[in-house]
Amino acid sequence: MIDFKNEAEALREKVIAFRRDFHQHPEIAFQEVRTSSIVADELRRLGLEVQTGIGKTGVVAILEGNSDGPTVLVRADMDALPIQEENQTEYVSQHPGKMHACGHDGHTAIALGVANLFAKYRDHIKGRIKFVFQPAEEIGSGATAMIKDGALENPRPDVSLGLHLWNTMPLGTLGVADGPVMAGSSSFSVTITGKGGHAAIPHECIDPVPVAAQIILALQTIVSRSISPQDNAVVSVTKLSASDAYNIIPEQVTLAGTFRFFKVEVRDVIEKRIREIATGIATASNCTADFWFHHATIPVVNHPDVSAKAREAFKKLVPQELHVHQEPTTGGEDMAFFMHDVPGMFFFVGSANAERGLNYGHHHPKFDFDEDVLPLSVALLASAVADYVMA
Ligand SMILES: [Zn+2]
Ligand SMILES: [Zn+2]
Repeated sequence: MIDFKNEAEALREKVIAFRRDFHQHPEIAFQEVRTSSIVADELRRLGLEVQTGIGKTGVVAILEGNSDGPTVLVRADMDALPIQEENQTEYVSQHPGKMHACGHDGHTAIALGVANLFAKYRDHIKGRIKFVFQPAEEIGSGATAMIKDGALENPRPDVSLGLHLWNTMPLGTLGVADGPVMAGSSSFSVTITGKGGHAAIPHECIDPVPVAAQIILALQTIVSRSISPQDNAVVSVTKLSASDAYNIIPEQVTLAGTFRFFKVEVRDVIEKRIREIATGIATASNCTADFWFHHATIPVVNHPDVSAKAREAFKKLVPQELHVHQEPTTGGEDMAFFMHDVPGMFFFVGSANAERGLNYGHHHPKFDFDEDVLPLSVALLASAVADYVMA
C-alpha cells in the first residue's frame, strides 16, 4: 500500500511552487487561460490524455490505469476573484484588482499534486481517474459549462471527489459530513409598477413605494411560515431602487436579493411564495409585479456511502478527534452540479494558522492560508481516490 503522507510530502515543493505561481497570476471567471495552459502542460507531461477548452477554459484529463475498474472524478476550481490583494508576501498577486482570495490556487495545485502521485503508480490503478479543472466557480457557471461540453461523458464517472481549503478551521482539522454541506443559491428581483407623479399629489398616482415596503416585510414570513422548521433557508432582500428625487413618486420600484436552501424542493417553495406574496400585495394595491429569478447553484449534498468510505481513508492521515462535523454553510459551490449527476463527497480541510495571521476569511483582501495544508490535502484526496482505484 502506498504511504500517501510520504508521497505527498515528496511533492511539497512542487505543489507549493504551482500554488504560488497561480497566486501571482490570478485569473477571474472564464479568463483562466494561463492557468489552464499550465495545468494542461503538466498533465500532458505526466502522460495523461488531456482535453482543453471544455466549458471555455476548463481542462479534462484522464489517467488510465492498467486494468478495468471504476472512474473517479477529481475536481478542482481554477478561478480567482475581482479583489485587490492587501497581503505583502513574496507571492502576492501581480495583477491589480485580481486575487486568489478563496484558495482555488491551492485547489488547482493540490489536484496537480494528486495527478503527479498517481502518474507514478499508474501500473497499480484499476480503472481510471478523470481530472476536471473547472473555470468560473465564483460565478457558479463553470461546472455547468463543462458538463454541457461533455465533461461527465466518455467515460461517465462512478464517483466524484473534491475539497475546499477552509480558513475558518485550523490547520490539521478536517470537516466531513453526510448530506448537505453547502447551500444552493438563487437570486431574484421583483419590479412593482404603479403610476408615477408629483409627491405632493399622491392621490393622482399609484405609489409603488409602500407596496414594495409591504412586500419586503411579507417576504420575511417565507422562512418562518412556509418552510418546515426541520429545513433551513435564508431569504434576504438586499437591493432597492425607487425614484432619485425627494418629490417624485416613481413609476416603478425594484427590489432584489438572494435566497439560500439545502433542498431543491425548498428553493421551489421560496420562488413560488415570492411570486404569490408580491403578486397578491401588488394586485391589492392596483400595481403589477414582474419577476426575474436566477438559480445559480443547487446544494452540495454528500452521498453517505462515498463520505463513509472517504472518512475511513482520512482516519489514517488525520486522527478522528480532529474530524469536525461540518455544519452546512450557506455559501454556494458549483461542485454541486457534478455531485448531482455523480454520487460524491466534498470535504473541507482546515487551512488557518492564527499565530501567523493566516486566518482571514474567504474573499477577504488579506486571505491567505498555511501552505502546510497543501501536502496534507494531496494525501487526503489521493487516499480517498485510491479507495476506489487501488482497492
Ligand atoms: Zn469563493
Ligand atoms: Zn471557493
